[in-house]
Amino acid sequence: MATLGIPENTIRILQKYDFHFQKKFGQNFLIDPHVLERIVAAAEITKDDFVLEIGPGIGTMTQYLCENAREVMAVEIDQNLIPILQETLAGYDNVNVVNADILKLDIAGVAEKYNGGKPIKVVANLPYYITTPIIMELYESHVPLESITVMVQKEVADRMQAGPGTKDYGALSLAVQYYSAAEIVANVPANCFMPRPKVGSAVIRLTCHQHCPVEVEDERFLFRLIRASFNQRRKTLQNGLGNDPGLPVSKSQAAEAIEAMGWSQTIRGEALTLEQFAQLANYLKNSIKV
Ligand code: SAM
Repeated sequence: MATLGIPENTIRILQKYDFHFQKKFGQNFLIDPHVLERIVAAAEITKDDFVLEIGPGIGTMTQYLCENAREVMAVEIDQNLIPILQETLAGYDNVNVVNADILKLDIAGVAEKYNGGKPIKVVANLPYYITTPIIMELYESHVPLESITVMVQKEVADRMQAGPGTKDYGALSLAVQYYSAAEIVANVPANCFMPRPKVGSAVIRLTCHQHCPVEVEDERFLFRLIRASFNQRRKTLQNGLGNDPGLPVSKSQAAEAIEAMGWSQTIRGEALTLEQFAQLANYLKNSIKV
C-alpha cells in the first residue's frame, strides 16, 4: 500500500470508497509527510512500545506508527472508515483496528491486556470537538500512561502549556500540568490537512509524571477548588471561592486560608502555581476541615 501522507494517495483512496467527511467527527486528515514524521519522532516510539491511536481516519499516521512500534491499537468511531483501514493497513500484522468511541472504551483494560499494565503511549491527531474530554478521560481514569503526543487546536495547546499570570492559564493548564510535563513540539498550518480546519493547529507532547509533582490529600477537592478559582476570572480568589455554590468554602474561610498562606487578600486564582493550589487545598481540608 502506497504511503498515504501524500495528497494524491489520500484523494485516490477517498474516491475509491466514495468517502464523505463528517464534520461531527472532526475529520481533518493529515496530508503532510513532514508533519507525520515530526509527530512520530516527538512521541519517541520504539519497537518495545504499545501505542494507542485515537481516530486513525484512513490510517495515514497509523502506517507510520506500525513501522515504528511493537503493536498499535487504532480506535475509530466512524464505521465508514473501517473498510478503508482494512485496505490501507493490510500490510501490517502489528495493528488492531477497533470501531468504537474512545470515550466509551475501557482504556485501562486495554493497557492491562496489551501492555501488561505498563504505561502506554498515546498518539493522535485528535478530533478537536472533544480534545479536552479525551485528555481528561485519559488522566482521570488512571490509565497507565507514558506520554500523550497529540495534534490539537493551537489555542488549546497554548492553554495546556501556559503558566501563572498569563491570559491562557486556567483549569486546563493546571490539570495537564498536574499529570504531565507539556511541550509544544510543532505549529502546523491548515494546509497540512484535508479538508483544511478553520483554526491553527499544534502538536503537543505531554510526558506523564510517574509520581505526582505535588502532594495533595484530596485530588477531587483540588480540582473543584481550581475550577471555582477560574470560574469568575476577574474576581479575587476570596470571592471566587466564597461565592461558588459547588464548593463548601465560605468567604471568611477563604479569607482565613489566604491569610494563613501569607498571600494578599486581593490575590487572584490566575496568579497561583499548581503547588500553591495544592497547599491551599490541603490547608482548607485539614485546618478548616471543609
Ligand atoms: N489520524 C487521522 C489523520 O491524522 O489523518 C485522522 C484525524 S481526524 C482529525 C480525527 C479522527 O478521529 C477522525 O477519523 C474521526 O472519525 C475520529 N473520531 C472522532 N471522534 C471519535 C471518537 N469519539 N472516538 C474515536 N475516534 C473518533
